[in-house]
Amino acid sequence: MTTNRRSLLTMGGVLSLGLTQPARAQSADRRLGYAIVGLGQYADVILPRFADCRHSRVTALVSGSMDKARQYGARYGVPEGGLYTYETFDTIRNNPDVDIVYVILPNGMHHEYTVRAAAAGKHVMCEKPMANTAAEAEQMIAACRAAGSKLMIGYRCRFEPSNREAIRVARSAELGPTRIITAEHGFNIGDPTQWRLNRALAGGGSLMDIGIYSLQAARYLTGEEPVSVSAVESTDRSDIRFREVEDTINFQLSFPSGVIADCVSTYGSHHNRYRIVGTQGWLDAESATAYEGNRLRLHRDGRTIDHPAPDAGQNQFSAMLDHLSQCVMTDSEPLVAGEEGLRDMRIIEAIYLAARERRTVML
Ligand code: NAD
Repeated sequence: MTTNRRSLLTMGGVLSLGLTQPARAQSADRRLGYAIVGLGQYADVILPRFADCRHSRVTALVSGSMDKARQYGARYGVPEGGLYTYETFDTIRNNPDVDIVYVILPNGMHHEYTVRAAAAGKHVMCEKPMANTAAEAEQMIAACRAAGSKLMIGYRCRFEPSNREAIRVARSAELGPTRIITAEHGFNIGDPTQWRLNRALAGGGSLMDIGIYSLQAARYLTGEEPVSVSAVESTDRSDIRFREVEDTINFQLSFPSGVIADCVSTYGSHHNRYRIVGTQGWLDAESATAYEGNRLRLHRDGRTIDHPAPDAGQNQFSAMLDHLSQCVMTDSEPLVAGEEGLRDMRIIEAIYLAARERRTVML
């Protein structure tokens, strides 16, 4: 693996200088190997997307059950030598076909598996939220830095055409300066025994899981960092689903330019939308951050029209996976590196503090 990585880094250096044609061609054809850790519902969304990748392929699977790993291996073409349990995971260091470990486990396990992956000499893609706490996120960044590993957070919306177009519109003068953003994310959570409702495994409730999309949207649409936050929580503690984590926690962020973002985060009702309101009109996204079918509508000069994103067909998952592969090959920083996940974790902690103490928290 060391040789493997060294040769990749060397190739990255050559590539970034743009020196030789053969190295360029080699990189265009090269597919880095991903190990998927955790074969749950979201892994089922990610795994089929490797078929559309140009620079990434699945070469290993990590599961609590070898039978399940074998079934998935047969489906996605992963040989027996690429199948691991959580106990044998660390031996992945000896597998030269694995360049990147993708952690798709419950939030409370992200820290442990990111640190173990880095110790095994692998680059890491880690799902959102990055960790249970900002302190864990800091340790993950430090572990990856010490190992010379890239760390990226699975913020797929940054690779999704409608969101990219919304960012362009919000940051341009097309609707006049942005004044207000509203962002709503939520769903009615079911099974009370699932890990999302267990504090140790989830880190928190709706905010960690789905409200984080409202937070991300406010930050990537403005391109700014919030300076203060206030929040209100509403949780029925007699509902068996919410013994350990919060249900609804709405929050307001204020940004240096004067933009205010009003955000919904809930486990009680379905929401998936945001609206950017400028002095001359608005852009509405609904669905805003779904896996497929996101739609934009634009209002200006008294008219409301559909506003399709230019590259609307592109799939966000493959673009995200290939982005990290390309960052590894060219030794460049991911668009959504560990530091981006850490920023969210710090703001999430401030939102919880603001709700708990019923006051505005300065960031
Ligand atoms: P899931 O429950 O469907 O899958 C979790 C996997 O972890 C399962 O295979 C389970 O067996 C395994 N696991 C190992 N130890 C476990 C333990 N102690 N308790 C419970 N499960 C354990 O969850 P999911 O929906 O796939 O979510 C996994 C991660 O992916 C979460 O961090 C979640 O926030 C993230 N996610 C991201 C998106 C996105 O759009 N970016 C979407 C869904 C989930």
